[in-house]
Amino acid sequence: MEPDYDAIIVGAGFGGIGAAIALRKQGLNNLAILERESNLGGTWHVNHYPGLSVDIASVTYSYSFAPNPHWSRMYAPGEELEKYAHHVVATYDLERHMQFDTTVTGAVHDDESGLWRVSIEGREPITARYLVAATGFLSQPYTPPFPGIETFTGDILHTADWDNSFDPTDRSIAVIGTGATAVQLIPKLAERARSLTVFQRTPIWVIPKVDTPIPAPVRRLFERVPATQRALRSVNNTILEGVMVVGVLQYGRQRILNRAVAAASKLFMRTQVRDRKTRKQLTPDYDFGCKRPTFSNQYFKVYNRSNTALETSGIDHFRSNALVAADGTAYPIDTVVLATGFNLWDTNFPAFEIIGREGRDLGKWWRDNRFQAYQGITVPKFPNFLSLNSPYSYNGLSYFTTIEGQMRHIERLFGEMRRRGVTGFEVTEEANQRFLDRMTENLSTSVFYAGDCSGSNSYYFNQHGEAVLLRPTSTRAGLKDARTFPLSDYTYAQ
Ligand code: NAP
Repeated sequence: MEPDYDAIIVGAGFGGIGAAIALRKQGLNNLAILERESNLGGTWHVNHYPGLSVDIASVTYSYSFAPNPHWSRMYAPGEELEKYAHHVVATYDLERHMQFDTTVTGAVHDDESGLWRVSIEGREPITARYLVAATGFLSQPYTPPFPGIETFTGDILHTADWDNSFDPTDRSIAVIGTGATAVQLIPKLAERARSLTVFQRTPIWVIPKVDTPIPAPVRRLFERVPATQRALRSVNNTILEGVMVVGVLQYGRQRILNRAVAAASKLFMRTQVRDRKTRKQLTPDYDFGCKRPTFSNQYFKVYNRSNTALETSGIDHFRSNALVAADGTAYPIDTVVLATGFNLWDTNFPAFEIIGREGRDLGKWWRDNRFQAYQGITVPKFPNFLSLNSPYSYNGLSYFTTIEGQMRHIERLFGEMRRRGVTGFEVTEEANQRFLDRMTENLSTSVFYAGDCSGSNSYYFNQHGEAVLLRPTSTRAGLKDARTFPLSDYTYAQ
């Protein structure tokens, strides 16, 4: 039986784009890239709240094989990332494979034909030999069930569904949440709002950003001598590896590095926030790295403004025109901004139902048997399936490094299939177990287990309290694994 497509990729963000480039390189030209949104770019298409920018410097937060000398700043604004996605897609001629406004509802492996059958909302199912899930970690917006929110008569905006026509001027706004998104948005709202009350449940570690516009002569230099931009990427990768990877994932051995970053963040806050009580409220009581830290030069200063208040007693309920805090204070507001993030562990992993060989349901299997994926990309009993947003895939540096490692994994795996003259692969149970054991052991010295993460409320931990999101290896080790994993870790079939 001939499939409709060589491969179906679900998601047209940077993960799906990377997978498509890798598969095309392997000679797979009949691709379907299915995207539920109306355009490509993934998170950078969906998110367009004021202040959106990368918080990993752009030299690092981009494909190494597609450097962009045109970033306007060290940390590019969100729309430049969307533009970059379009540029890469045009360069590799991928848009012709993309189908927008196409929501995948499920995928089943047909053990007889060896094909994947993918169900799509409002359409006939389609088939492919290979299935790639590239739906991202942060794709299912979360709105907590706040008591009385249905009685609130003002405007409610979620940061992942921003209304571009919203004008904060003279509004009385409550922002709920202080994650990386809120940290970018709050300074923008504070500039224009009549009053801004920030409802913080858990403080976030904030590090200053070395962010400047990139002058035209430097951009020209990057364009003419790409090695200069590569050198900057290399320097930035090394710094980030220390802060975001070594200090967090190798906490047991590098505690001093972790402590130094936390001390620098506290010192930075001291120079920024005048009020002592506010500083105390903004100081995390969990170790650096337990949850995703962020970078900002504007955030802390906001709390010196007369129109901005920090509320930390918690949210009790909404009234028609007010938000009532747990200590009984009622804040009259006309707008609520939900910077409440995404649901990773209930509605993601996977983002749609995936049924593998012998009827194994991926979501159920993960929940019943620990979340796991060999090298963060393949799963036993799921032949010809690549799951890019898997447990243990991303080590905290830049998502692009993860994608490029996965592209190398694809290259090695498909190269071996070509050499053997076969079209089917499946990771062995033994290889998967070996990898899981290694990750479990490595994690024991991470900040998640060797540090104090109680009270961090971190999405790095799943519903069973296990920190299985990040891959506890250095970036170099992850990339080496992608190039050298034993080919016998897979079985191959016609
Ligand atoms: P997030 O980090 O999950 O933050 C959600 C916030 O909402 C947290 O402060 C959380 O408090 C709060 N919250 C959730 N439920 C609540 C409730 N019932 N009551 C009170 N507060 C509640 O989400 P995010 O800020 O959207 O960021 C998600 C991730 O996106 C980041 O970690 C980062 O990886 C990425 N991001 C990247 C960039 C960038 O690179 N440009 C920008 C933004 C985001 P708790 O902490 O107590 O749970």
